[in-house]
Amino acid sequence: MNKDGFLIVVSGFSGAGKGTVVKRLVEEYGYSLSISATTRAPRDGEEDGREYYFKTVAEFQNLIDYNGFIEWAQYVDNYYGTPRKFVENEMKAGKDVILEIEVQGAMNVRKQYPNALLIFVTAPDAASLKSRLAGRGTETDEVINKRMKRAAQESDDIDAYDYIVINDDLEECVKTVHSIIVSNKSLRENNLEFIDKIKSELKGL
Ligand code: 5GP
Repeated sequence: MNKDGFLIVVSGFSGAGKGTVVKRLVEEYGYSLSISATTRAPRDGEEDGREYYFKTVAEFQNLIDYNGFIEWAQYVDNYYGTPRKFVENEMKAGKDVILEIEVQGAMNVRKQYPNALLIFVTAPDAASLKSRLAGRGTETDEVINKRMKRAAQESDDIDAYDYIVINDDLEECVKTVHSIIVSNKSLRENNLEFIDKIKSELKGL
C-alpha cells in the first residue's frame, strides 16, 4: 500500500481569503504547508521563511536552473515557485502537504501528480473580491486592478479543479475543505489497497 502523503492544492482569486483558510487548516488539522519562494517584496508583518522565502530575480532564476521547483509561475509582476525538496520529503514521510498556489501552477502540479486534489476557494461574487482586496490595504490601486484582471483570466481554468468552495463563512469553509480532503484521501487509499489486493490475487491464479 502506498503510504506517501497526499498532495492538496488550494487556489483562489486574490482576495478570496484562501490564505486564512489554509492557515486555519494547518493550525487545526496539522497539514504540512509548503512555503513558496517569491520575488515579491514582503508586505508589512511578513517574515522571510514564514509567509515566503523572499528572493531576488537572480536567486529565483538560479533555483529554476537547478530544478529547485516543482512548479513556478509569473503572477502579476512577480515570480512564485514551490520548493521541490520540502514537498517531496514531507510526502515521503507520509505527511499531507498543502500548496497554496495560483492556477497555472496548479495545472502544472496536476500533470506531475495526477493524484493531487485541487480545491478552488472563492468569494461569493466579484464585487466582494474587489472590496476585500481593497479593504486589506496591502496593495496599490494599480496592483488591485492587475489582480482583478488576473482573476478574470483565471476564471477560464477553474472548471479543472476537483472542488470549488465558496468562502462566505470562514468556519464553514475551513470545515468543508477539511472534510473534502479527508474523504478524498480515504477514497484514494481504499482504491490503492484494493488494487494491490486484486493484483496479487490475479497474479497468483
Ligand atoms: P500573494 O502575492 O498575494 O501572496 O500571492 C499571489 C498569488 O501567487 C496567489 O494566488 C498565491 O496563491 C500564488 N502563489 C503563492 N505561492 C506560489 C507558488 O509557489 N507557485 C505558484 N504558481 N503560485 C503561488
